[in-house]
Parts: sequence; C-alpha cells; structure tokens
Amino acid sequence: MTVSRAANRVLVLNSGSSSVKYQLLDMADASRLAVGLVERIGEETSRLKHTPLTGGGAEARVFEGPIADHKAALEAVAAELAKDGLGLDSPELAAIGHRVVHGGTKFTQPTVVDAEVLAELEQLVPLAPLHNPANVTGIEVARAIRPDLPQVAVFDTAFHATMPEAAYRYAIDRETADALSIRRYGFHGTSHAYVARETAKLLGKAPEETNVIVLHLGNGASASAVRGGVCVDTSMGLTPLEGLVMGTRSGDLDPAVIFHLARVGGKSVDEIDALLNKKSGLIGLCGDNDMREILRRRDEGDASAALAFDVYIHRLKKYIGAYTAVLGRIDAVAFTAGVGENSTPVREAAIAGLEELGLALDGERNAVRGDEPRLISADYARVAVAVVPTDEELEIATQAYALVTG
Ligand code: ADP
Repeated sequence: MTVSRAANRVLVLNSGSSSVKYQLLDMADASRLAVGLVERIGEETSRLKHTPLTGGGAEARVFEGPIADHKAALEAVAAELAKDGLGLDSPELAAIGHRVVHGGTKFTQPTVVDAEVLAELEQLVPLAPLHNPANVTGIEVARAIRPDLPQVAVFDTAFHATMPEAAYRYAIDRETADALSIRRYGFHGTSHAYVARETAKLLGKAPEETNVIVLHLGNGASASAVRGGVCVDTSMGLTPLEGLVMGTRSGDLDPAVIFHLARVGGKSVDEIDALLNKKSGLIGLCGDNDMREILRRRDEGDASAALAFDVYIHRLKKYIGAYTAVLGRIDAVAFTAGVGENSTPVREAAIAGLEELGLALDGERNAVRGDEPRLISADYARVAVAVVPTDEELEIATQAYALVTG
C-alpha cells in the first residue's frame, strides 16, 4: 500500500493497557504538530492532555472524566486534533504508526497491518502478555476509525533481529527452547536504532563504519552492541527482565534464584514474576526507582541508596566491557533515555576507570545539560562518549512513512 507524497503527516500511537501516548508529526520537516496522553482509560478519573504545537501557542488542553475504553480514547484524541484542523479524516494523514513491543521472529521490519497480521500478532501475546494485547487493541481501534489508512506496526524487538545465533540462543535444551520460542529477542530496539544512527552522525561517520555501544537508561534499561549500524548483541532477552539493573527489574541473576524463591521461599510463579519485575532493581535495593532521589539520598549519607547506585553502575560497567569485547573495536559509547540523558553522576561513574578501553570523560562537558546530541569525552580519549537524546516517536514515524511512501 503506497500513499501520495502530498500526504506527509504520521500519527504515532503507543497504546498501553490503560493509556495511549500519541504524537502527530509532519514528515516534511520532522516537526511535531501535536502531542498528548490519555491516562487511566476505563476508570472514572480518566484524563486526556492534548498539546497542539501549531500556530505558536503550546497551551495544553486537559479533559478529565470517564473515558470508557481505547476506542473512546482515540475518538477523544481525534476530536482534539480536529479542533486545530488536524483531524484523522485529513487527506494529509499518510499513516498511523503503532509501537508494538514484541514481534517474535516473524516481524523484523515495520509492517502494514491487515487482518492476517492482526491474527499473527494475537499469537505473539504469550511472549508479551503485559504489552502486546494493548498494542493490538490500539491498532484495531485505529483501523475501525480509518479503515482506508495504512496502520503500520513498528516493533521494539525488530532492530535486534540481526543478532547472530551465538548471541540470541540460550544454552538450554534446543528442542524445548525452539518448541516454546525461547530465545533472546531484545527490546527498546527503536531507540537503539535511532541513537546508533544519530551517534554516527555526531561523529561525522557513516553508520556502516561505526561501532557503537548504546546505553538506553530509562526506568527500563538496556544496552546494545551495534556494529556498522547492525545490532549484534543486546542485554534484554526473552522478556525485558534480563540485563542491566533497572528501576524496578532485577536484570541478570542466577536462574536458580527463582527455584530458591519457590522451594525455600514458598512463592508462586506470579509472586516471583512480580518480585523480579516490579519490586527489584533500584526500588528493591533502596525503596526508590528515581535516580535523582537515589543520588540525593546517597549524597546525604544514606547507605542503601549508595549501595543501589553502586550495584547499578557495576552492572553497567560489566556490559560496557562485554560489548567492547563483542565488537572488538568501538568508536563510541552513547548514553540515552531519562537517566542516560540527564544524570551527570551516572555517566561519570560508568566511564570512570575505563581508560584502558579508550574511554575518558571531560568533566565540564559531562556537566552541561542540553537537548541536542553532544560529545562528553575528553579530547585525548580514543573512543567518543556521547549523550544522544532518544526519539522513539520520530523513529516510528520515519519507519512508517518510509514504508507507505515506498
Ligand atoms: P521510561 O520511558 O522507561 O519510563 P524514561 O526514559 O522517561 O523512562 O526515564 C525515566 C527515568 O529517568 C526516571 O525514573 C528518573 O530516574 C530518570 N531521570 C529523569 N531525569 C533525571 C535526572 N535529571 N537525573 C537522574 N535521573 C533522571
């Protein structure tokens, strides 16, 4: 399905179980026309915050009151967009791009969704039971409102599909693994793809000749090793639980911890799932998952906050070392997402002592805040260290637009 180039707007939808985040972008200049968020869908206290970004004024409009379901949510969003002449019925809308968390092995490229694709997405629900059902609902609702418009699914797993089998295969019984689709998939792929490319741009190099370690440090966190624009390893696995220490997830641990929690701790599978995904990581170690609060407490002498920070940094350093070995040669380490973009102390501690790997920061550059991609490494360092703000919505819109305009 291709659309006319005169249609150059893309609506990006990120549908969660009780929320929808959206942005309307103009692909002629990659600008935002409107952004917004619907929260607490299905409750009495739903809230829609819509910010139009055209016409100079960026005054947000807020609606509070019951929004029954995702269909009502998208209809409310469409009504807000229409107030500024940006309605979903506009011929200028080229596509709706949907973030879909898990594409399994089947979906490794942005994909126009038809009934067959929807059925296949339903089959992937067991791999991502918390995320994919809401993503699919978002697509169904958008299709019902504009059946003639391409709905493009962009998968969080897709960028990692290039991992070699040595990196994605777990060393467990092959038949069992294959029968249950157990392997490493990786997540945050849209962000890793965007940041790896922007880092090459910042270095003035072609992505094909640039090796980058991307550290996406948000509430969820993951690292990836990108060789010449292609992902060769990433820290998240079958699910987003593996890898780095995160806001509420443990990241790597001995799988036998799970047997111990069951046999000795008497916990059920669901309790262990909740413990490791929601009550571990930084919040499990010190009761807070906001890095700003942890650093404030640490600076006041709080021992558990200091330990949480140390465990977080130790794991991060291990992955920088591991991915340097995986890549053989690195041109840059790029920090992104909430913590990576904003936390001077995290970047400082993560890079400290890695001079032998060619890594050293310039303290003043690291302390500067900003929204633009920037280098923070010392002039004498062999490997660049960069802060590269991620933009998953722009990446989804770019991929969706490229697909529908051929
Ligand atoms: P996600 O999309 O995974 O929810 P974000 O990328 O938005 O996460 O990152 C959210 C996290 O960023 C928060 O948990 C907070 O700890 C962290 N963060 C935001 N600003 C700062 C800052 N100035 N210093 C340290 N951490 C920050």
